[in-house]
Amino acid sequence: MKILISDAFDASLPERLKPYGEVTQDKNELPNADIVLVRSATKCTKEWMDKAKQLKLIIRGGVGMDNVDEAYAKQKGIIAINTPEASSIAVAELAMSLMLAIPNKIIIGHQGMAAGKWLKKECERTELYKKTLGLIGIGRIAREVAIRAKAFGMRVIAYDPYVKTSDVAELKPTLDELFQEADYISLHVPSTPETKGIINKTNIAKMKKGVIIVNTGRAQCVVEEDVAEALKFGHIAGYATDVWYEDPPKASPLLTAPNTVMTPHIGASSYENLGRISDIIVEKVKEFVAKK
Ligand code: NAD
Repeated sequence: MKILISDAFDASLPERLKPYGEVTQDKNELPNADIVLVRSATKCTKEWMDKAKQLKLIIRGGVGMDNVDEAYAKQKGIIAINTPEASSIAVAELAMSLMLAIPNKIIIGHQGMAAGKWLKKECERTELYKKTLGLIGIGRIAREVAIRAKAFGMRVIAYDPYVKTSDVAELKPTLDELFQEADYISLHVPSTPETKGIINKTNIAKMKKGVIIVNTGRAQCVVEEDVAEALKFGHIAGYATDVWYEDPPKASPLLTAPNTVMTPHIGASSYENLGRISDIIVEKVKEFVAKK
């Protein structure tokens, strides 16, 4: 059994997988690999799968299967699975960091200090306490965000048409109601035809003036041009994002927009989370090999 580790994982993974097969990190071994482990960088397209003549199992370390052509894998009899349960805490902590960075003017203050400027006036802050956080999607990650936001004294509301009850958020029947009430909006939905571009010009106009938006979900949920425009005119007071149309972004209008906080898609990249992803992968490989 040849196991190809195609992307960056926890350093302990190659050694831990040795009992289950020959482990390689050489991408030229794709045609001989039975199992391939990917995160986001490797794109498991039709062409890629056609080169992988022996491939039986793809494991994507992370939430979502955006970089795996699942339909084609199914057609070819390749099992494609992921590790959705691992990353919730890592992403939730990043969402909270981004949500705190904007009202606390962390970036402005830091850049000022580094440039020898004492920007005390420019760094007037506001608090999360007693503000309303609107979560779009109330799945695993949003749940962890809700728990943390409540610890800061926020009121938490959520819109998720696929969830009937929640013990951590007050569910809103429509997105419009969430837009009308939220001081902060945090996105936690996958990219689907339904969620594509939901943060657009029309919906931004329904939001409170001065709303702050945090996106650790998917870039495709946002029309970047519309957000950049609303940032310029102040309808959106701040936009923090970890996710991009492409990694890294080449021509995003957000790169030069005011009042942004940007990170290079690091939601799942905590040291602890990479360890959790490895634990799950080792278990899945073990199960797969045992069935052979
Ligand atoms: P999850 O499946 O537990 O939750 C997603 C929720 O979205 C579900 O409750 C679902 O019902 C809801 N949903 C689907 N369509 C919706 C719609 N049209 N409107 C409102 N809600 C809708 O997933 P999760 O583990 O919480 O992850 C959420 C998202 O976070 C992932 O889909 C992924 O896009 C993103 N993510 C980003 C990073 C990162 O590195 N920044 C890492 C992991 C996950």
